[in-house]
Amino acid sequence: MITITPFGAAGEVTGSSYFVQTSQARVLVDFGLFQGDKEDDAKNIVPGALHRSTIDAIVLTHGHLDHCGRLPMLVREGYGGPIYCTSATRDLAELVLRDCAHIMEHDFERRKKRASRKGGKINRNDQPIFDDGDVTETIKLMVDVDYDVQQTIAPGFTMKMYEAGHMLGSASVALVVTDEGVQKTIVFSGDLGPLELPYLRDPNPPETADVVFMESTYGDRDHRPLQETEDEFAQIIKEVVANKGKIFIPSFAIGRTQQMLFHLAELFRKGIVPKIPIFVDSPMGISATKIYTHHTDLFDEESAALNASGAFAKDLSSVKFTGDAEESRAINDVEGPFVVIAGAGMCNAGRILHHLRHNLGDPNSHIVIVGYQARGSLGRRLVDGVDEVSIMGDRIRIRAQIHTLGGFSAHAGQTELINWFGHIASHSSPQLFLTHGEDDARFTLAARIREKYGVRAYLPVYSEILQIA
Ligand SMILES: [Zn+2]
Repeated sequence: MITITPFGAAGEVTGSSYFVQTSQARVLVDFGLFQGDKEDDAKNIVPGALHRSTIDAIVLTHGHLDHCGRLPMLVREGYGGPIYCTSATRDLAELVLRDCAHIMEHDFERRKKRASRKGGKINRNDQPIFDDGDVTETIKLMVDVDYDVQQTIAPGFTMKMYEAGHMLGSASVALVVTDEGVQKTIVFSGDLGPLELPYLRDPNPPETADVVFMESTYGDRDHRPLQETEDEFAQIIKEVVANKGKIFIPSFAIGRTQQMLFHLAELFRKGIVPKIPIFVDSPMGISATKIYTHHTDLFDEESAALNASGAFAKDLSSVKFTGDAEESRAINDVEGPFVVIAGAGMCNAGRILHHLRHNLGDPNSHIVIVGYQARGSLGRRLVDGVDEVSIMGDRIRIRAQIHTLGGFSAHAGQTELINWFGHIASHSSPQLFLTHGEDDARFTLAARIREKYGVRAYLPVYSEILQIA
């Protein structure tokens, strides 16, 4: 019998993991970190069911931490089999996992010092869940896979990866699983991108499936049209050029940073705004941009052509990568107009904090919010329009202009999800499971899909054992 057990991202958006078992073999698809608050941290364990069984192979859909972040824990506990992923996913996962190990180590040392100052000791359970050495061992297990090539990965399991259009190297995965005379094609969407995400090819759904696990992050809504967002962005730059102002974009290092560079290149190329200096002020953003340039074979046609003709290099000749802290500080003395792209994306850490401390009080500064801002983050408070914030002990009255641009998501909107599933449903009659979404989003999506295709979606919960008939 084939069973599938979700060990995360069931009724929430982090911790993605599926455990597929047959009488012959066991395969894990993704093993991501839960992210958010303390309660989520506590969920970052290796579940008992995985301890007790031998995993034959792991498949990784993409390099985001909420899909790969628990893999080093498994390796630390003795997993030594293959981890199949695209080569771009391997490079991005390494960057993401090393960064995570580094942050956990740093936090741990800080708390240890604080505890010893108070004469106490730190709880053993507060040790980082993995370290840089575990990441090195994890990366060694990664086996490069090409898109659209079927291969055997375990007894009774073949696998094929399809473009998911969500981040560089991201994939949907189709497993053909054979057990006790039964054969099922089981598709995991992974995270799906919207159509026309810069650099990336559009998602390419498989033709047929018996079972589909689909993400539902934005199952309850569509994004604002990209064109509107681009126009709004251009308008802000025009104002900044006219007033010699400054633009600060808090941005995730991977994906969003490169996306913003793409849009800026386009605005410069088309002459919509004059070329102004851009500072990519994020060591991780710089590393991620380098990884993008190593995988231009994965670019969509438009981006590949712009890259090959040298247009990108020309458009982006005003970009300065400020890797070291000295160069970053020197931006304080530069006169506008210019654009700074810096992490962290939700303003809760990183170099963006220094820029905000220096510039939030200046009416000629513009903070352009281009990504999701979680409740409780500094970015969310800026979006909510508070008058004053505290950054590194300084109280700052906000005089800068705050703009929230809603159309730059790396996730498919509701209509795009429905169409992706519709492609498979038009060639076969799959059973549908909705995951990787909060309950409101997946309930709404389930209702829309039932209306349109007559398919009744099932919404699994954590560690539920799903029997595939
Ligand atoms: Zn993702």
